[in-house]
Amino acid sequence: MTDERIFNFNAGPSALPLKVLQEIQGSFLNFAGSGMSITEISHRSGYFDDVINDAVDRAKRLLKLDDRFHVLFLQGGASLQFAMMPMNFLKEDDSADYVNTGTWSTKAIKEVQILNKNYRVAASSEDKDFSYIPKDIKFSADAAYVHLTSNNTIKGTQYHQFPDTEGVPILCDMSSDIFSRPLDMDKFGMIYAGAQKNLGPSGTCMVIIRRDMLDRVDKTLPSMLKYTTYSSKNSMYNTPPCFGIYTIDLVLKWIEEEMGGLEEMETYNIKKADILYDFIDSNTFYRTTAEKYSRSLMNVTFRCPTADLEKKFIITATEKGLGGLKGHRSVGGCRASIYNAATMEGVNALVEFMDVFAKENS
Ligand SMILES: *Cc1c(COP(=O)(O)O)cnc(C)c1O
Repeated sequence: MTDERIFNFNAGPSALPLKVLQEIQGSFLNFAGSGMSITEISHRSGYFDDVINDAVDRAKRLLKLDDRFHVLFLQGGASLQFAMMPMNFLKEDDSADYVNTGTWSTKAIKEVQILNKNYRVAASSEDKDFSYIPKDIKFSADAAYVHLTSNNTIKGTQYHQFPDTEGVPILCDMSSDIFSRPLDMDKFGMIYAGAQKNLGPSGTCMVIIRRDMLDRVDKTLPSMLKYTTYSSKNSMYNTPPCFGIYTIDLVLKWIEEEMGGLEEMETYNIKKADILYDFIDSNTFYRTTAEKYSRSLMNVTFRCPTADLEKKFIITATEKGLGGLKGHRSVGGCRASIYNAATMEGVNALVEFMDVFAKENS
């Protein structure tokens, strides 16, 4: 128990910028002079129109999107997208290329299998326990799309360059690194992200989709499973996740106005990750688990010499106000998730703690 806010390294849901939380707190009972909370306002009101339109505009400005792109908000998390992509884009004779870089990619592939659609695993890093991002991948020229996971939250790997798919649209799960860096959007037919890692609370999934992908949507699908339902109604065919969209808007405002945009955000993220990786590399007690060229700037995965020491590490860190450092239950070890909202102060405190812990337990 603590009365203080801790340094939060949770993988998801994860830390939000303090400024954003304070803004929510300050306006929670009376949003924009409406006399109502944002959680009490009609999604058909002018108040909410302003919120969703501001969120869309900010997303477009930050990613420098031209008007081919639609910014949508869906429910069902990133996991529903795993099924919606093949349902919407794979007709009978079509096939998609998937790159398998870990748990989330594997789950995306599983949904294509369930739907009995055609696919090919164009590359996989399963041979080395998903510790790297495959290079020199040969994609099928006639694939309907290529699916990638930009940042592998569990294994701590990330694409630092996206492959050349020679015009085949990339559909990319960016749940754990969206808005952490600038993107060349020309390569992407669609990007999507469950909000709870780098954008806001759980319950909202942001989908950014290009017009030519919308033209391909299977029109026989139920309304809620078709991207066109969302694009034609500004994500308000039914009641959208209002509080999630409101929080995302504030987070995007924070990136734009406090951090200075995505170039600056990336510089800050690189600095934080470098501090942590440089420390681990210079220390013999800890070791990282990802190949150096594939290391994630968002999820730093590492091990202590033994599983017992890892347990002690996590307990001791928690006592010192450093939370969320346990690796994913499927892999064990330790993981520091340092998304956009993680502060340099928190990273420095973590390194200081790791140094002392290593000395005391070597
Ligand atoms: C957390 C995560 C998911 C799952 O997101 P949900 O919103 O819980 O469905 C999918 N992909 C990646 C890369 C993730 O980190």
